[in-house]
Amino acid sequence: MTKLEQLKKDASKVLAPYFEKVDAVCEENSRKVMDAFHKNQVTDAHFGSTTGYGYDDLGRDTIDQIFADVLESESAIVRSQFISGTHALTVALFGILRPNDILLSISGKPYDTLDQVIGFTENPSSLASFGVKYEQIDLVEDDFDYEKIASFLQDHKVKMIEIQRSKGYSTRKTISLSKIEKVVKTIREVDSEVIIMVDNCYCEFVSTHEPTYYGVDLLVGSLIKNLGGGIAPNGAYIAGRSDLVDLVSERLTVPGQGREVGPSLGLNKAFLQGLFFAPSVVASSVKTAIYTSYLLEGLGYQVEPTYQGERSDIVQNIFFGNREDLIAYCEGIQAASPINAHYAPVPSSMPGYDDEIIMAAGAFTQGSSIELSCDGPLREPYIAYQQGSLTFPYGKIAVEQAIEKIFSTRS
Ligand SMILES: *Cc1c(COP(=O)(O)O)cnc(C)c1O
Repeated sequence: MTKLEQLKKDASKVLAPYFEKVDAVCEENSRKVMDAFHKNQVTDAHFGSTTGYGYDDLGRDTIDQIFADVLESESAIVRSQFISGTHALTVALFGILRPNDILLSISGKPYDTLDQVIGFTENPSSLASFGVKYEQIDLVEDDFDYEKIASFLQDHKVKMIEIQRSKGYSTRKTISLSKIEKVVKTIREVDSEVIIMVDNCYCEFVSTHEPTYYGVDLLVGSLIKNLGGGIAPNGAYIAGRSDLVDLVSERLTVPGQGREVGPSLGLNKAFLQGLFFAPSVVASSVKTAIYTSYLLEGLGYQVEPTYQGERSDIVQNIFFGNREDLIAYCEGIQAASPINAHYAPVPSSMPGYDDEIIMAAGAFTQGSSIELSCDGPLREPYIAYQQGSLTFPYGKIAVEQAIEKIFSTRS
């Protein structure tokens, strides 16, 4: 028996206790979603649609409240008018920050797509161009620099703190809820007013709580990731304190109109159904990640997290260590996708990135990464960032095929 065959054979037994935990989290989050549907008395009238200004959209307003409940928040705005997670983050930042305010990131440099938003990269529409100041405190050994954060807040009046949980294209660990809880306490001991915002992309429903439960003021995420359940065709959400959600809503639409406008254009059912599926789809993604981790570690690659490791998001890192294996693996994932399987992913340069990037994504929804996708920059140590899978069997099949592709490319 080959090493791979042996690993595949042992997997169900070895991984059973870890999958059991994933199932328990899934059940608790499913209960949370169902409770929110019942509390808000969802009926088929909520599938109705508005056009034009979108006044009196019963379904849209109910969806906002359901997301607020599920995200343990006072309020939420969930809209297809958010064109991406980055857009929702941008609206949250511009909605809150004013000239001369300080924005402080305490999880190091934020996600690449925010470079021009914050103004690391020159842009005449950046926060910097409006006179918003930016400061950054890096993580230390994948954890917050609690002392430095406390002393910075003692010395400066900071308007808003940004925390990014998931790792983007970095090698750090995802920030767990226990670290969020601890840092919120640290912050509140020094400053009771600073607005704490969390970029929650890829993290929703991986645990049984969300950062808002621990006192975070604003939470932002994309609907073509976890909470869209693979059904929402686009959109994003901002949830949290209702005064802040009102403020950012007036930035998304119009001062004075806020959440009252914004047509749902027939998407209410998809948003509701997507959220309904989300706990299970996230569980399938996490199981696919655990399975990937187990096989590839068994074959000698470094992985993060390991199959036994704590997980706070749906992303699996594989350190391939060489260009050929990373490319072959991504080709294998693409070839095992439902859509565009007959196309090969080609490494290419992307705006905002220094290195070429390879991306395997054969998804029903363009750019959706709750569907199985795998990508990585072509630089040392050749790390793949794999995430998603609408079901575990499809994920399992794809990962096995991608590994076979590495073997067949070598020989
Ligand atoms: C995906 C993601 C975003 C938002 O990305 P979009 O592609 O604009 O939706 C922001 N932050 C993190 C950490 C992410 O993973």
